[in-house]
Order: sequence, then structure tokens, then C-alpha cells
Amino acid sequence: MRTIDRLGDPRGKRILVRSDLNVPLSGSTITDDGRVRASVPTIRALADAGARVVVMAHLGRPKGEPDPRYSLAPVAERLAELLGTDVAFATDVVGDSAHKTVGALGDGGVALLENVRFDARETSKDDAERGAMADELAELGDYFVSDGFGVVHRKQASVYDIAQRLPHAAGELVEAEMEAFGKVLVSPARPYVVVLGGSKVSDKLGVIDNLLGKVNRLLIGGGMAFTFLAARGYGVGGSLLEADQIDVVRGYLERAAQSGVEIVLPTDVVIAAELAADAETSVVSASAIPDDQKGLDIGPATIELFRSKLADARTVVWNGPMGVFELPPFAAGTEQIGRAISEVDGTTVVGGGDSAAAVRKLGLDASAFTHISTGGGASLELLEGKTLPGLSVLE
Ligand code: ADP
Ligand code: MG
Repeated sequence: MRTIDRLGDPRGKRILVRSDLNVPLSGSTITDDGRVRASVPTIRALADAGARVVVMAHLGRPKGEPDPRYSLAPVAERLAELLGTDVAFATDVVGDSAHKTVGALGDGGVALLENVRFDARETSKDDAERGAMADELAELGDYFVSDGFGVVHRKQASVYDIAQRLPHAAGELVEAEMEAFGKVLVSPARPYVVVLGGSKVSDKLGVIDNLLGKVNRLLIGGGMAFTFLAARGYGVGGSLLEADQIDVVRGYLERAAQSGVEIVLPTDVVIAAELAADAETSVVSASAIPDDQKGLDIGPATIELFRSKLADARTVVWNGPMGVFELPPFAAGTEQIGRAISEVDGTTVVGGGDSAAAVRKLGLDASAFTHISTGGGASLELLEGKTLPGLSVLE
């Protein structure tokens, strides 16, 4: 993959940068600016080198037309604060405002275009439609830098088609993500342990499928564990269960047994009748979940078990919380296992939007992990062994 320095001296050049600025908003207040922060280094490096930086990004899922609820205006403000410079905001994507704003940029200046998804062609399945939008975007830049790791699994105009029209390179964030995933996907140090959790096993079948052939141990917690427990013949009460996946999961258990991969399931669970912050909880064996109760976190014996399975690991990938960490009574499993992973002596990579949010929310030391991915879907697709269009187009 080409890196930014391969583009030569960027001074005075207009550089279109695709960033992932898709932050959660409450009204016009950004409730978590992690993605803006992660985008700053590349933008700053280019601006410091004298480039005229034109940032492209999306926010939410507008319906292919301008919608003030999804305006990037609040993000432009936050980006300016974090950069410590002005950010000129274009109120359209490829229209008059975009051309005026970009035309007025001086060397070292930064502009942000309005939400690229205000143009329906951005996400079109039709190559010609996306191509036409990419042609118009290309008029606004001399080079393209791909830095929105969270969108590189998308074949979209500002991610994919634009790279076919301008000299291009990967930004620092995409480079850092690829370096971290390279370490866990290509000849990982062993023992190699993958910790999976989260709500839906069906979201992660591809990951399990691909990793079963590569890892030494698979530790499974979170809501998805109950489909595994059901496949082992346990009743799971009112816990999350994807009954239509039980056979698939049973197949994984058999494959793992044949290939010497250890699949470790919870032995005890924290249960409650209701998902509530003030719920009355108890701990039961994973084989004894009452019919009227839901399993909402892994129990203390499972925490110890998982900890022992992590102690000698040299490579760990973690995707998916161990319980409903958003509510204090069910946060201990995610907190304790997150901490145990952060203490592993080796490469530790966290993928998945909610897992990364858990690290921040539970006050774990983010710097203790080798890498916390900024891309949920993109990181899952890498772990599934897929080729990502926004990455292959950079090669
Ligand atoms: P990620 O974004 O890290 O890939 P997921 O989106 O797969 O993770 O899952 C995250 C969600 O899973 C969290 O909102 C969490 O509350 C939920 N979850 C974890 N354990 C359980 C459980 N036992 N029952 C219900 N939901 C759960
Ligand atoms: Mg998620």
C-alpha cells in the first residue's frame, strides 16, 4: 500500500482526504469524538506540510439528500478545536459551496465538505453513478488520501471510485490499522487467543469460520455464548438465543474438536429477570439458567477461567463485550476480561465499535492495548479474511 510520503511534496496541492467522522450525536452535541480524534494526525500532518486539505466524510444514514439532522457542521467545529486551526465548512458536497470553499483555501488550510451521503450517488450500486460523483469530487483535489478505516469495506464514491481517478495513498490511520491487523492475521505469535462476545452470533459467523483454522483458543462470552450453550444442550432461559444458528454453531464445535482448537464457553452467568440498571441479579451455573431469567454477563468463575486462558497468550484479538456493559450490574465481565487482555504480554487488538466504546466507558487504559480499531464493520471483514474494496483499490 502506498503511504503519504510516496505522493511527494504536498505543498500547495489540494489533497482530498476521506476520513471517518461518523460520530454519535445527541441533537448537535457530539457524545463521543473518538473518530474525530483518530482522524486528526493525517489531516494535521498534511496541513503542516503545506497541503490544502479537503476532508470528505459521512454522518449517519441520510436518504441520499440533504437532511439537517445529519449535517457535519458540528463535526467541523470539533475538528477545528482539535486541530487548533480554522476548518472551512462547505455546505454542499460537490456544488458551488464546495468549489468556493476549496478555491479559497491557502497552503496549510483545511476544509470539510458536507456529508457525502447527501448525494445519493455516493452509495449507489451502479458503477456509473458512483463514477460520475467521483469525477465531480476529483475536480476538487489533486491527490486522494484514504484515511477512513471505518469505511474501507464500502465500495462507495468517496472511498473507492475516487482512488481510481487521482494519485492516491493510505493515510496514517489506515496504515496503523493495517499494521495491527497484519500482526494478528499473518503469522501471529502463539498461543493465539481470540475473545468473542457481543449480541449476535450471526454477525460473527464469518469471523469464527475464518479464525477456527488459525487460533489456538476461542473464548466466547456475551449474548452469543447462549447459542453455543444451547448447541451443547443447555437451556438458556430468556437469554439471547439464535435458534436458527444452533446447527451451524454445533458444526463449529465439532470442527474445533477435530482441529485441536479449544473453544471455551462460560461456566457461570450473571442473570436477572429484566435488563435494568437496578435489576436484582444472581449468579448461576451455565447449565442451570431458570426459564424466567436472562443471562446478561459472564460470572466470576468464567472470569477466572478466561483469565487463565489468556495468561500465556502472545496474540489476542478481542471483539464483542462479555455482557451488557452499558449497565453497571452487567459490566464486570467486560471490565475484567478487557483488563486481562490489556495485561497480556504480546500483541492485543480490539475490534468492534461497542468493544472500543467499552474500553473507554469502563475506564480501561487504552494505551495498554497494542491497537484499538476505529472500524467495526471493516475490522470484522478483515477478521473474516475478506478483501476490502477500499484497501485493494490502494494497491
Ligand atoms: P462490537 O460492536 O464490539 O462488535 P456487538 O455489536 O456485537 O459488539 O455487541 C455489543 C452489544 O452486545 C452491547 O450493546 C452489549 O450490551 C450486548 N451484549 C453483550 N452481552 C449480552 C448479553 N448477555 N445479552 C444481551 N446483550 C448482550
Ligand atoms: Mg456493535
